[in-house]
Amino acid sequence: MSQARLESIQQLRDALRAFAAERDWDQFHSPKNLSMALTVEAGELQEHFQWLSEQASSALAGEELAAVGAEMADVFIYLVRLADKLGVDLLQAAAAKLEVNGRRYPADKVRGSARKYREFKAE
Ligand SMILES: [Mg+2]
Repeated sequence: MSQARLESIQQLRDALRAFAAERDWDQFHSPKNLSMALTVEAGELQEHFQWLSEQASSALAGEELAAVGAEMADVFIYLVRLADKLGVDLLQAAAAKLEVNGRRYPADKVRGSARKYREFKAE
């Protein structure tokens, strides 16, 4: 099987639609199941970092980095499939969330701090 070159989320969405249709898997791709599958894959991603030091987690290479990339792809695939099923425009949703986060976390108030929104809002 040749590796398709994907250049947009829409192309990935369409490839995933075709992949599921060819296997008659669409029947299993309810939003509930897709959200669960996404979480499972996120767990598989985390497994690669479990027990690593901060430093080691930033220094992955070779086969380990490739394996992490493959789990990231799994998460991305389920997220795109879920967005397709729910009619969510992921780029638009991300842009909207970025704007909300920009308002919630003004750079001049939070620079260099990892505190949550509620923690500095009360000050
Ligand atoms: Mg996986």
